[in-house]
Amino acid sequence: MSFNVAIDGPAGAGKSTVAKAVAKEMNLIYVDTGAMYRAMALYMLREGVNLKNPEEIIEKCGKAEITMRYENGIQVVFLNGENVNPYLRTEEVGEAASITSPVPQVRENIVRLQKELAAGTDCIMDGRDIGTCVLPGAQLKIYLTASSQVRAKRRYDELMAKGEACDLELIKAGIEERDYRDMHREMSPLKQAEDAVLVDTSEMDRDEVISELTRLCRQAFASWKG
Ligand code: C5P
Repeated sequence: MSFNVAIDGPAGAGKSTVAKAVAKEMNLIYVDTGAMYRAMALYMLREGVNLKNPEEIIEKCGKAEITMRYENGIQVVFLNGENVNPYLRTEEVGEAASITSPVPQVRENIVRLQKELAAGTDCIMDGRDIGTCVLPGAQLKIYLTASSQVRAKRRYDELMAKGEACDLELIKAGIEERDYRDMHREMSPLKQAEDAVLVDTSEMDRDEVISELTRLCRQAFASWKG
């Protein structure tokens, strides 16, 4: 049996940055599940699908084959055989992913892939439904969150550092809209699993979050090993 850590939480809570660092520290594979939903959304955008029409999304999603591989420890996502990693991390794709991900037909194959991967690998997986749906038996579940104001400010600082013009209030509104969609969808909505540890990072810096999560992982690993 493998050792699995599930991290869920809203957009911009810092899940991927922290999960990557903890995975390295603990020698676990890091699985970014959002990237898989983003690859599906990228396909829809490229195909010019009307995102307001679920029927179109359902019809097209069967034509997008999403697969994953690890190259030098880095997760690479393939869309119909093409490495699409360079195109996944844009606001447009993230936004589209939160519109297409509620469609059950979109989730089916992606969730199956995630379950298979975790069954055979010691990993830390982040997303929205990992503790509640993908890995209900994970040895450690964490719900990582922060206020929408703090998450928006972090995103704003990131974009400013890259020299990209942006507006804090618009970013905050976008984050809140995405939270709403992720938390209110019918299938696998974002919520804290009953047995998840809540970590609110509003008043913590990156290093503090990493050291707290590493501590929780070590504890869970030790009790799993017995
Ligand atoms: O985490 P990330 O911003 O990359 O996720 C993009 C979108 O993919 C989320 O807003 C959410 O709608 C969807 N997603 C999901 N389930 C996951 C991971 C992401 O529905 N496990």
